[in-house]
Amino acid sequence: MLENLDKSFYATVLDALNDGIYFVNRKRRVLYWNKGAERLSGFTAEEVLGKSCADHTLNHVDDEGNCLCLTGCPLAACMRDGQSREVNVYMHHKAGHRIPVCIRSFPIRNAMGKITGSVEVFRDNSQHLTMVSEFETLQQEVLTDPLTGVGNRRFSDISLERLQTTQSMEDRPYGVILVDIDNFKSINDTWGHGVGDRVIVAIARTMSAILRPSDIVCRLGGDEFIILLPNATPNGLEIVGNRLDLLIKESWMDLGEEVLSFSASMGAALSDSGKSAEAIVEQADKQLYLSKAEGRGCLHLNGRKVCASC
Ligand code: GH3
Ligand code: MG
Repeated sequence: MLENLDKSFYATVLDALNDGIYFVNRKRRVLYWNKGAERLSGFTAEEVLGKSCADHTLNHVDDEGNCLCLTGCPLAACMRDGQSREVNVYMHHKAGHRIPVCIRSFPIRNAMGKITGSVEVFRDNSQHLTMVSEFETLQQEVLTDPLTGVGNRRFSDISLERLQTTQSMEDRPYGVILVDIDNFKSINDTWGHGVGDRVIVAIARTMSAILRPSDIVCRLGGDEFIILLPNATPNGLEIVGNRLDLLIKESWMDLGEEVLSFSASMGAALSDSGKSAEAIVEQADKQLYLSKAEGRGCLHLNGRKVCASC
């Protein structure tokens, strides 16, 4: 039945599709260009037919800006090896901008099975990219503490698991420092929740500013934070802890009628190949307890007060 249909039938069907479709011969000259291709690219069939697809028309580039016409034309590749392929690229629009498209290319064979050209079907991919960026935003929201912008407890759990894997596979220890703001209830009670929030944010920012980009700060909840330090040594842990202690103590907030200063207590522990991540955090928690018990505003490591300012 299909053999009896004339060419205009196929042209009508192809033009009704939203996808852009075009055929090229072995020399990559465009032999067919449907209405979808006109809509997506801005080029009319008259402007494109007979030209090479690399001739200042589509000029696909990948997301690193490499021009596929020169380095890896999918149409040329499928004429070479007879394989169809799918790839996400950026297509040149006649108006000068780039549009993200998902392209699929297939070889065209004659009755003898010889490859005589190839066909490309392309689809606007902006929707897909919007979804990717929405997904990234969502992922960011799920792992971030909304008040301070540092990681949340979930991010801390994921990061700890990763560090624990590195510890066991590559024997690279990591450090954990637990930080809890001192007498925070009384800050809230005296100045209100809003000021309490500002203190939490200030301490989170100070900690983030002091640490290396590879270090991780997360708020576990309330006035409690965890800091994870990849590739740590006992000496390094002590130096970082001291810097945190000093700079938090040196922070203050002008409330107009009074200047509010604050401090935090800390407990540190270094990972050990024989211990679980939970055991390391528990060890740091015990050290934090010691800091609270010994007057607050200090840092403990291995049962010893190690801050220079104490
Ligand atoms: P300590 O020195 O022993 O740590 O005493 P503390 O007063 O800081 O006691 P604790 O750490 O238990 O206090 C935590 C308080 O933090 C209790 C809770 O009301 C308050 N809190 C929890 N989440 C928030 C928040 O998001 N904002 C504010 N402003 N307060 C919070
Ligand atoms: Mg506290």
